[in-house]
Amino acid sequence: MTVTTRIAPSPTGDPHVGTAYQALFNSVFAAQNGGRFIVRIEDTDRGRYNAQSEGRILDMLDWLGIVPDASPRREDGDGPYVQSQRADLHRQYARQLLDSGHAYRAFDTPEELGARRKAAEARKDSYLGYDRRDRALGREESDARAETGEEFVIRLAAPLEGQTVVKDRLRGDVIFQNADLDDKVLLKRDGFPTYHLAAMVDDHLMGVTHVIRAEEWLTSTPTHIQILEGLGWQQPEWIHTPWLLSSGGKKYSKRRGDPSVEDFRRMGILPQALLNYLGMMGWSMPNGEEVFSVQDMVQHFSWERVSLGGSTFDVTKLRWLNGKYLREKLTPQEVVARLHAYLAEYGSDLPHDAYFDQVALMMTPRIEVLSEFQEKTPYFWSEEYPVTEKAAALTLGGQDALKAVRRRLAALPDFAHDTTDAALRALADETGVKVGKLMQPLRAVIAGTTESPGMFEMLEALGKERVLARLDRVIQG
Ligand code: GLU
Repeated sequence: MTVTTRIAPSPTGDPHVGTAYQALFNSVFAAQNGGRFIVRIEDTDRGRYNAQSEGRILDMLDWLGIVPDASPRREDGDGPYVQSQRADLHRQYARQLLDSGHAYRAFDTPEELGARRKAAEARKDSYLGYDRRDRALGREESDARAETGEEFVIRLAAPLEGQTVVKDRLRGDVIFQNADLDDKVLLKRDGFPTYHLAAMVDDHLMGVTHVIRAEEWLTSTPTHIQILEGLGWQQPEWIHTPWLLSSGGKKYSKRRGDPSVEDFRRMGILPQALLNYLGMMGWSMPNGEEVFSVQDMVQHFSWERVSLGGSTFDVTKLRWLNGKYLREKLTPQEVVARLHAYLAEYGSDLPHDAYFDQVALMMTPRIEVLSEFQEKTPYFWSEEYPVTEKAAALTLGGQDALKAVRRRLAALPDFAHDTTDAALRALADETGVKVGKLMQPLRAVIAGTTESPGMFEMLEALGKERVLARLDRVIQG
């Protein structure tokens, strides 16, 4: 049987980092086994549905470079890959479970259920689930009430005794006592399936062999096993991956303000760095190497190297890793091309010319994320650049040095890197002032900050006219 994995994201808002994480592990495992990786959009929860979200999730995968073998944008015979378009199938299998006695109709109204729950809470009853009262209804009565148009849900008739064992690839046997489990709703009053039924029907019909998903679904798995058993279907392999934690130790969560994938993209994180980082969060290379590609992961992946503890997402580390990609994994030309694309995407009006490329090449070793490029280089684009307090003090205190430097620079025939370098060194020799001392106030003037790329590269890029004009503006007397 072809190994088939899937992600089944719900389109409820910003694409989650967790979805990217699952997409990575599912696609890597499928690729390693010559299998298929599919994307199914689970949009049956109409209350939380967000119309833009589906496209954003698929765009996120495109951006990451994760190419599913089937998805709503790549339908094959086993779709549709949008769950709401499969509701007839879900209803058909709910009916099958009903007919085989693995499910039953429950006619309780939401008000009745609410009142019973309140009463149970008041009694401090620990069991707040459905009390199963309609499970006792005979089939004839159930059919008759349904025929009169009375609304109902279809619930799973879960086993009341014994155990359901989840054989998890990472955790071994996880045992659930059936007495602790609920008769979950499979089909809602509006005729839409719940996640539990829809996911299992779709996984089966789509030939999913390995369900690789987040740990938070582990408690739903006994219900999923019971649904599969009721339908007489084989179980997939279950693999529940460890939590992604945010720096506070809580579950990584968009709702609590942790960045989404789009936030990282806007920050100027490269997709390959994000994938590398996500890979590192759950797994490690056998040789301990921290910088690895998806291809490396496909080659070396094993569940044995997945640690169950849960990993803490550290944005500082991700930025560091991204900086490494910018400096070491991409050629300078590639970085420049990325910067062009990035700035165009976020509406920057910087020119796309040779000057831009010159500045970009200079800055590449000095940025960790693409958004820093424009933030760190205002003095290359305008005469109205900010000046830090430290730079202002250096300008004020370095007037003599600035005057000497101005004279020397003004006399130069050109501003080539080597020319200004030789000139400032000669000036230092002649005056006995250290070259660093000459350059400090000069940097403060032409960049407005004490942090900038190399002085001579910067002088060459800015050019004689601009540099002298900037000096003239601040030299007093
Ligand atoms: N729709 C679920 C989600 O939003 C899918 C869970 C699963 O993988 O079974 O994550």
